[in-house]
Amino acid sequence: MIIRNREDIRQAKRIVVKVGTSTITYANYSRNFTRIDHLARELSDLHNQGREIILVTSGAVAVGTDRLHLPEKPRTIPGKQAVAAVGQGILMNTYEKLFAEYGTTVAQVLLTRMEMRDRHHYINSRNTFMELLRMGVIPIVNENDTVALDDLKIGDNDNMSALVGGLADADLIIILSDIDGYYTANPATHPEARLVHTVTEITPAIEAAAGEAGSARGTGGMMTKIQAAKQAVSSGISLIIASGSEPNVITRVLQGEELGTLFLSRENRLQVRKRWLAFGAGCAGSLVVDDGCVQALQREGSCSILPAGILRVEGTFEAGNTVSVRNQAGKELARGLTHYSSDELDKIKGVRSALIEQILGSKICDEVIHRDDLVVL
Ligand code: GLU
Repeated sequence: MIIRNREDIRQAKRIVVKVGTSTITYANYSRNFTRIDHLARELSDLHNQGREIILVTSGAVAVGTDRLHLPEKPRTIPGKQAVAAVGQGILMNTYEKLFAEYGTTVAQVLLTRMEMRDRHHYINSRNTFMELLRMGVIPIVNENDTVALDDLKIGDNDNMSALVGGLADADLIIILSDIDGYYTANPATHPEARLVHTVTEITPAIEAAAGEAGSARGTGGMMTKIQAAKQAVSSGISLIIASGSEPNVITRVLQGEELGTLFLSRENRLQVRKRWLAFGAGCAGSLVVDDGCVQALQREGSCSILPAGILRVEGTFEAGNTVSVRNQAGKELARGLTHYSSDELDKIKGVRSALIEQILGSKICDEVIHRDDLVVL
């Protein structure tokens, strides 16, 4: 789907909600149970309405700081990692208990940049998200702070929420913060600053106005939120920044109410992915398909590629790589993301999908390339 205005938001089905440390903890680092409970209740209710929800939550470091009775967050890396390890379990335990009150099952997903950068990890985490959503579970995501160091670190959950939105093909990302949206200038120092309701293009002026400031408890300021918005719209997902202290904010945003700032993406996720597949991704190998598959591609303009239609596998590639789909004369007809490696495809080519598990010992899915991951050239 594509969101063109507030009204379209009502149709958003898969939603990433990000809450910052300052939304779910107090200034003394202890948990704000009223907020967390409200969040669990509201997200469970939206889930019951048939929406798919992914929650990205910060707070591990703050909650660990509180539990260990430290006067402030540690400044050293091992200190932060240790405190996050204490806090993450407590944070998850809190969510698990409160969501369970409303009959909702949650899952902990801890990510690092590795899952975004490496195709194999990417496709693997994507499959996990899809499976969790299919099972009716709300994934609760945070950065794996105890292992993520330096170049593996995403660093802030604003950017994380945009990456997760892309990974899981979300329709909308909602970032809840201690500020109610993007202002023309910092409202704390510029009383004339205005809240901007809709942004259709993130200009350098917008980025400059975002400044660097964050609160003492959280990590990102407006800067990381604008970075997240940029990343989201460039992957075809609209993003909203709104205040976490506004009553029923998520529900009201999803009813189309003009709260916070909406950053609109011009294209939808599928268009962006298909363009990237067609022009941005290098091909690691080819699948030569039979005439039936060629006809289906030409007739329908798109279709999933099943093992049964594959005659030959060329090149060496991993699951998650981009591959060409060719006819027997070698003409490239389409490109797509393969769920199976060349070694695996050599074993399952020409066979019915029902036999994949028997041959490989396990099955990721029936399709070698899913139609959403395929672009006909
Ligand atoms: N992952 C960090 C935590 O749980 C927070 C990162 C952020 O605040 O964006 O404390």
